[in-house]
Amino acid sequence: MNIEWGKLPFGYYKTEYNVRCYYRNGAWGEIEISSSEYIPIHMAATCLHYGQEAFEGMKAFMGKDGKVRLFRWDENWKRICNSAKGVMMPTVPKELFESMVKKAIKMNSKFVPPYGSGASLYIRPLLIGSGARVGVHPADEYLLVIFVTPVGPYFKEGFKPVKVQIVRDYDRAAPLGTGHIKVGGNYAAGLIATERAHDEGYSTVLFLDAKEKKYIDEAGPANFFGIRGNSYITPDSHSVLPSITNMSLRQIAADLGMNVERRHVPVEELSTFEEAGACGTAAVISPISEIVDRDTNTHYVFRKDGKVGPVCTKMYERLLAIQTGDYPDNHGWVDLVEI
Ligand SMILES: *Cc1c(COP(=O)(O)O)cnc(C)c1O
Repeated sequence: MNIEWGKLPFGYYKTEYNVRCYYRNGAWGEIEISSSEYIPIHMAATCLHYGQEAFEGMKAFMGKDGKVRLFRWDENWKRICNSAKGVMMPTVPKELFESMVKKAIKMNSKFVPPYGSGASLYIRPLLIGSGARVGVHPADEYLLVIFVTPVGPYFKEGFKPVKVQIVRDYDRAAPLGTGHIKVGGNYAAGLIATERAHDEGYSTVLFLDAKEKKYIDEAGPANFFGIRGNSYITPDSHSVLPSITNMSLRQIAADLGMNVERRHVPVEELSTFEEAGACGTAAVISPISEIVDRDTNTHYVFRKDGKVGPVCTKMYERLLAIQTGDYPDNHGWVDLVEI
């Protein structure tokens, strides 16, 4: 194959197969393998009308030893089950999720990017209400589809800091809404603010708590953290999506002898941070050089030199090294996949 792995974007690249499973009459059926990129769907399916859908994102990496390493899939499984419950969809049995994820990797093994390319295989499970309803009720049929796509290194010209914008005129999630589950509706709610931030020269939006607008919630598609002295500080809020990357970084911070604080983070506290970052599966860490408050025009500048801080760098390198097998997997985060 002739793929320039290092130049792949974080985007869709067609692979050969995807795996599917339907939930009908109260039970999950057999795993189906498909080579179609399309799913036939009823026009009255609840995912289309009433937002019954949830998704996941995880990565697999080729190690130096030629073994494929899948990162913390059991956490993605727990989360998709939580998301499912949150919008009244059936949960997915652990064995079913595991075998579908591993089958999707195995059937597309030639798309696992080589070690050292900086690229990885992104795995996207999608759970949707596929049954027809017109009145507002949960569907009676669901589809779980898992596809994979090779993605390039997030930072093509090296690990670079980004600028982020605080907004108050949009919320991605209500205080008791769906912010804590991985459903598409949260992205839809944040889309206008996110696109406007792009147009205004920022990489993403930092949303505040919807009720008081006093505390940092999270960036559109990624959690937020700040570094001050020897502390790793990250917001605790019901409307923040529990990021598996953030969970892993908290452990790595502790492993590095840092204090980990998970609590409300007032906006003003930004001025005390020496480093800041957004974290998620796609980029691991997007270091933040500057946060600008769109309403007050306050500029919180973390790195005047435009470089990435030493703590963000160390944590990023450690997590990536665990994922690729270059650093010992002391916490049992990595599962080797036979291909
Ligand atoms: C998926 C997601 C994240 C990142 O979670 P990871 O498990 O680290 O990939 C953060 N915020 C939102 C809103 C998300 O949907």
